[in-house]
Amino acid sequence: MELNLYQNHTRAWLQNDYAYPVLSRRAEGISVGINLSPANECNFRCVYCQVIPEQIHPGMKVDFAQLKDELEKCVDFALSGAIFKHPYFLEVPPHQRRINDIAFSGNGEPTLSPLFPKTVELAAEIRRIRMNEGPTEDFRNAAKEMKIVLITNATRLGQDELQDSLDTLLENNGEIWAKLDAGTEEYYRKIDRSLVPFDGILAGITRFAKRRPIVIQTLFSRMCGEVPSWEELEAYAERIRKILDDGGRIRYIQLHSVCRPPICAEVQTLEPELLKEFAHFITKKTGTSVKVF
Ligand code: SF4
Repeated sequence: MELNLYQNHTRAWLQNDYAYPVLSRRAEGISVGINLSPANECNFRCVYCQVIPEQIHPGMKVDFAQLKDELEKCVDFALSGAIFKHPYFLEVPPHQRRINDIAFSGNGEPTLSPLFPKTVELAAEIRRIRMNEGPTEDFRNAAKEMKIVLITNATRLGQDELQDSLDTLLENNGEIWAKLDAGTEEYYRKIDRSLVPFDGILAGITRFAKRRPIVIQTLFSRMCGEVPSWEELEAYAERIRKILDDGGRIRYIQLHSVCRPPICAEVQTLEPELLKEFAHFITKKTGTSVKVF
């Protein structure tokens, strides 16, 4: 039962284009997602991505007024508890009947959207208003505890023009979950298939992590039957150690594998036992806590 709930991360919620509530394994509760990329554009082409090339519509614009309306309604639906009376969420187990966050996720990389700064302000305002003016104490408390999470491939974390938006996010109970899927440039190119230099991504993660603790999100999978090698794992641990040695702080690492069918048929999920073994190795080498999802 739980698996089906988690597996269904459809962006299509009712008639919405931009905002959608999901039960999130990593959020350990309800996450209200924002999709800022109706064009489905990204500067990565991860082998495990679920966006198919036919769904990429260059130039498709976001209707900000519609986004605002959808987000407000979704957040109120969640904070009021009405969500748990909806047939789709009726079976959410009691310990997960909580609203964890508004999350910049969706298709594509959210920080590439020109509307990202404006939408961060909007999410902060929606949270603030509900924290102060919500109809009941429970509602106001739930709004106060609600985070604003940026799920990012980390390619823009180091860029100066993004820093104000990141500040706003963090001042409003924000968290950053930054992708790091490899230890070597070669494996990064094989898995994330991006032209963005790997060193630049690591520098961006480090820059941010020196200011505030960051969450690292890592997906390992089986590619054409092959699992990541121990040499790759060693290189990955080395990268984590370097971030820490340079003064960065890592809250924890989220380690997961594909749980929904990716577009690329050669990519398969890793067994939970192997993920746990990898997690143990990474913690031993870096002293960083690793949660397996
Ligand atoms: S970063 Fe996310 S949206 Fe972009 S290709 Fe990878 S999985 Fe897909």
